[in-house]
Amino acid sequence: MQRDVDVIVVGAGLSGLTAARAVLRAGFEPLVLEASDRVGGRILTEEPLPGVFLELGAQWIGDTHHRMAALAEELGIGLYPQFEEGETSYEFAGEVLRGAAFHRKYDDDLAAVDRVLRELDRMAASVSVAEPWAAPDAEEWDRISVGQWYDAQGLSPLGRELLDICTVGILAVPTVEVSLLGLLVNVVTCGVTADLLSESEGGAQTRRFVGGTALIPQRLAELLGDRVELDSPVLSIEHSADSVTVTCRGGLVARGRQVVVALAPTLAGRIMYDPPLPAKRDQLTQRMPQASAHKMFAVYDEPFWRADGLNAQLISSVGPARMSNDSCMPEETGGPGIILGFLEGESARIEGRWPAAQRQEAFRDELARHFGPRAGRPELIVEGGWADKEWTRGCYNANPGPCGWIHFGDALATPVGPIKWAATETALVWSGYMEGAVDAGERAAREVLADLS
Ligand SMILES: Cc1cc2nc3c(=O)[nH]c(=O)nc-3n(C[C@H](O)[C@H](O)[C@H](O)COP(=O)(O)OP(=O)(O)OC[C@H]3O[C@@H](n4cnc5c(N)ncnc54)[C@H](O)[C@@H]3O)c2cc1C
Repeated sequence: MQRDVDVIVVGAGLSGLTAARAVLRAGFEPLVLEASDRVGGRILTEEPLPGVFLELGAQWIGDTHHRMAALAEELGIGLYPQFEEGETSYEFAGEVLRGAAFHRKYDDDLAAVDRVLRELDRMAASVSVAEPWAAPDAEEWDRISVGQWYDAQGLSPLGRELLDICTVGILAVPTVEVSLLGLLVNVVTCGVTADLLSESEGGAQTRRFVGGTALIPQRLAELLGDRVELDSPVLSIEHSADSVTVTCRGGLVARGRQVVVALAPTLAGRIMYDPPLPAKRDQLTQRMPQASAHKMFAVYDEPFWRADGLNAQLISSVGPARMSNDSCMPEETGGPGIILGFLEGESARIEGRWPAAQRQEAFRDELARHFGPRAGRPELIVEGGWADKEWTRGCYNANPGPCGWIHFGDALATPVGPIKWAATETALVWSGYMEGAVDAGERAAREVLADLS
């Protein structure tokens, strides 16, 4: 089958869908080619019980995620606040302590961690998201890993471990795999370290979508109608100055004038390009691995921890989950109690590969240590990782390894003739998040439209 359009978009994640929508609104014909049998990519909502939505993929937006909030409003999807009242539970140095007791005992360690975070904010202020490699200290900061830099900050073992867990909670890879400059880019695209780490005002995790995040890509796809082709993995892109021919597994061939590749860089690198991409772009895609995260949901008859003054958040040096969250439906609709545990970085790679029965038993034991014996008896556990998904191969996003930004960074979003690059990794704001996916999709559409006109 052959289709002739103006703009081909590869990938029906949020970035590809928003790019296609912008192209359509400008009066041109887009066609979105999606490898899998659904839209949404790293957004995936499951409904194991009627009205109970579990986000195996993206779950929250923050107060400064204005594009996502506007999209939800436009698509008629409600938002509800993340529940966070109560104490967090900590497991360090062989004991489990509730928030107030933990803070009393480790006040000095926590103050030292806070000083390191403030120093990161100070350094990030000299980094431009558009050109991180041009920061005055970029060379030095891109040659050292986040882990090495943390080691040199004179923290106590507890402070060092706490900082590591929180950072891995953002990057989803061990801190030795990302450069200090890479972390600073993450900080500066999102605001300040507090915005990345916190669920309170300004943070990345303050609100959720009523009915599930997947409603967003589903409704965007409805607007595009038959301009979205599922089950169409793109194998190759032939391109000249003003035309592209995109071939899919299964035989669909799409011809157009421009193409937006809305895939994480490593997946974009698996497509065959004719003529081949510039060396720098290809070497970039060889250096931006997808991170590793795995979510585990424990479902109970009610959120019993709330009456106990707990917020269902844990931070643990033991695991298998290193962090957790209250993941219930809106308070006014009631429903079951749900705790979400995160296995990120090494935990996803090690405990995430254990047999499910072993991992779930360890998770139940861990929840009982933090939230009492009732927490060890969930009615249901639902879990999932992303490395095994053929068209994602890891999450939450991708960061270049050490020296990646200074040597290859400028190839990340620079168009190659009629090929424009989208996906959250290429965003200038909230890169790695849904907000970034929309930002990148809209930017790629602007580049396409500029060339078309
Ligand atoms: C477990 C998890 C939790 C997360 N939590 C949050 C959160 O709470 N808040 C937040 O803001 N963000 C979160 N994120 C990140 C967020 O999901 C992503 O930033 C965003 O969805 C990325 O959208 P995208 O369009 O850039 O990429 P993707 O969603 O990856 O879209 C790419 C699309 O391309 C398709 N594709 C791949 N290869 C091909 C090919 N060869 N041909 C055709 N199609 C192809 C894929 O199937 C996919 O549909 C989370 C992600 C995960 C996985």
